[in-house]
Amino acid sequence: MHRQLPDYHIHTPFCGHAGGTMAEYVQEARELGLPEMGFADHLPLFHIDDPTLAMSHNDLPRYIEQVQRLQQANPDYPVRLGIEADFIHDHLEDVAAVLARYEFDYIYGSVHFVGGWGFDQSRFKFEFEKRDIDDVYEEYFGLVMTAARTGLFDIMTHLDVVKKYGHRPRRDLAGLYRRVAGTLAKSDVAIELNSSGLSKPVGEIYPSLEILKIMREHGVPITFGSDSHKPSQVGREFDQLLRLARDAGYSDYVRFAGRRRIPMPLP
Ligand SMILES: [Zn+2]
Ligand SMILES: [Zn+2]
Repeated sequence: MHRQLPDYHIHTPFCGHAGGTMAEYVQEARELGLPEMGFADHLPLFHIDDPTLAMSHNDLPRYIEQVQRLQQANPDYPVRLGIEADFIHDHLEDVAAVLARYEFDYIYGSVHFVGGWGFDQSRFKFEFEKRDIDDVYEEYFGLVMTAARTGLFDIMTHLDVVKKYGHRPRRDLAGLYRRVAGTLAKSDVAIELNSSGLSKPVGEIYPSLEILKIMREHGVPITFGSDSHKPSQVGREFDQLLRLARDAGYSDYVRFAGRRRIPMPLP
């Protein structure tokens, strides 16, 4: 069953923390029988210079060329050109300018920084102990809503990645999640079911069933991604993603081409 879903979240060695070659990722997706695959590597960052977090500005055109080369080498198989762009409030215009330069099939928005704190990096996770966890959740999801409203992104990735190290909110945040869902729906932004959380300390898909049900009630469309940083991770645990989508009440999902949504029934 899981073989019938596209994997839209595949990284490449350009980002400095992924292995394999780009051709190996395509090969893996083809061999698994996925209907489509898409690269979505980390767009260069503007607020810090760290070659282990994202591709460099010089590498961006090379990344695009490599994806195009693989599209030409696989005329019978859809290889999508995506990108994962960090939402950094002070650099919106820079990000918008660089995104406008290329014809992406879809643009993922992600929040990896809360006020300059790279909360999902293990070297900075100690900071969680110093903060009020409910405030962290509020601030994080506030940034997700601001990001969605910019109109720069088609899909928000790993929607509740703030839970990565197992830090749970103390308060009931259903009201906050409804505000997020309403904002995403109004801004025409989809979300991704991302299986990488299953192998993180939290041991859960992003987002949780609770959040996903609220997203479904607001009509927020879904996509699927493994967040692969190695070819062997392509399509990982997609059976669990499909089950979660169904448990939340979804009966369809979307594919993307040229930043247009294509609705598809769930397999
Ligand atoms: Zn990465
Ligand atoms: Zn990410």
